[in-house]
Amino acid sequence: MLISGAWQNAAAGAGLLAPDGTIRATIFAEMSALAEATGAINLGQGFPDEDGPDEVLDAARRAIKKGVNQYPPGRGSVGLREAIAAHQKRFYDIEVDPEREVLVTAGATEALAATILGLVDDGDEVVTLEPFYDAYGALIALSRAEHRTVPLRLPDFLPDHDDLRKAVTDRTRLIVINNPHNPTGAVLPLDTLELIIELAHEHDALIVTDEVYEHLTFGLPHIPIASLPGAWERTLTISSGGKTFSTTGWKIGWVTGPAKLITAVLAVKQFLTYVNGAPFQPAIATGLALPDEYFEGIATDLTNKRDVLSSGLTRAGFEVFPSEASYFVVADAAPLGYDNAVTLCRELPELAGVVAVPISAFCHEELAGEYASLVRFAFCKRVEVLELAAAQLARLGR
Ligand SMILES: *Cc1c(COP(=O)(O)O)cnc(C)c1O
Repeated sequence: MLISGAWQNAAAGAGLLAPDGTIRATIFAEMSALAEATGAINLGQGFPDEDGPDEVLDAARRAIKKGVNQYPPGRGSVGLREAIAAHQKRFYDIEVDPEREVLVTAGATEALAATILGLVDDGDEVVTLEPFYDAYGALIALSRAEHRTVPLRLPDFLPDHDDLRKAVTDRTRLIVINNPHNPTGAVLPLDTLELIIELAHEHDALIVTDEVYEHLTFGLPHIPIASLPGAWERTLTISSGGKTFSTTGWKIGWVTGPAKLITAVLAVKQFLTYVNGAPFQPAIATGLALPDEYFEGIATDLTNKRDVLSSGLTRAGFEVFPSEASYFVVADAAPLGYDNAVTLCRELPELAGVVAVPISAFCHEELAGEYASLVRFAFCKRVEVLELAAAQLARLGR
């Protein structure tokens, strides 16, 4: 076998292992290729079709011109670490020491990788919500841990508290949450966050929270779990500039938390990428210091986009679930007569000139059936693109 056992394991964890042992393309790669080949509107992968703020883009250009082009410090440039600490204080009143409690990473993805690989041993259990961001499954499998999940229940995609209590045991090393949540757009309520902290204490588990959509909520406030009593000392908080500043290709992410935990993450991170994106680091620092109007503006803009796409999907005959945050909305294709979202997504470019992703791509096989007819659509696109997609999708109901 060409592929190592560890990576076979990871591919299996991500649901990518084909019956013949080869590794399949992710559904995201398959759907993006389909969008490319057919010219369909790509509402599959979550990347914006417009540039982020000029201040941020110009800061990167200036940094390149000034010669910020060599390896930055291993923990990240001082200016960015200070900007991350100031951001946590300004928005959440969390005090973070930029010297010891902040680590800059190659996107949130590397932060997740280094955290899971650095903190988990063979046979430990890692609990996530389900559906889950695909990298979680692969990384947990690569760390040779057991992946336990808590299903998110329709119609609001929130976890049942009894399910949470059952999933977290003394074998649980990490409770990984994603709040606000991709792919469902759910925002975890305060009492659920408090229960997670209580369970982490009871079973001596650590909390890892992926908050890349922290600024993209549509009315509900974002409550970082690390800001709640009893959480800080056992929580690692992960975020990234990609979603907030529409710079998903820059891959500047970070993790904040107690120094001891950050050191464990750094131990792995230093051998994954060592460092990345020197000129983009000061640019993201510039972004984090933008005035409140910027952060309010992106949320308002995206709220409108959510509404345009959601109402278009409703008019087309889907049952649309409310999205409270993120780039995404989930819609049920069953009322249109499609019980299998994988089949529908493969046909959608032909039927309606649109690409989307089945929710089952974010699930283990056992639970995929419950979400079989659900589709994730991205609305981080220009309004005219969303309107066109909605008009084309209206063909489905005819
Ligand atoms: C986009 C996304 C990431 C990846 O962030 P990068 O900074 O691009 O690595 C991680 N988690 C979730 C939930 C995401 O949607």
